[in-house]
Amino acid sequence: MILSHTYTRTHNAIYFSDPYKQCLQCGEWIDGVLDAPGPNILIPCEHVAEYRDLCASWGPVDGCTCPNGWHEMRPRPVYDDGHHY
Ligand SMILES: [Zn+2]
Ligand SMILES: [Zn+2]
Repeated sequence: MILSHTYTRTHNAIYFSDPYKQCLQCGEWIDGVLDAPGPNILIPCEHVAEYRDLCASWGPVDGCTCPNGWHEMRPRPVYDDGHHY
């Protein structure tokens, strides 16, 4: 189920500080969820799906603190319209 992009413009989004969350439906990284009633709507893929946390030890200060340290920081996407949801 793909929602139109206009949908994201009419709802606030909750962005995660943790960059290691992944959509279970398409496997893409997600940045947050829409703050809308009902099930999770993931950003930016807009799937209505659960997500998983790939780096359980991630912290906002130190980043990945897994023992083997293999979760490299991924680049954050840049939204070209400069809009803050
Ligand atoms: Zn997805
Ligand atoms: Zn990690």
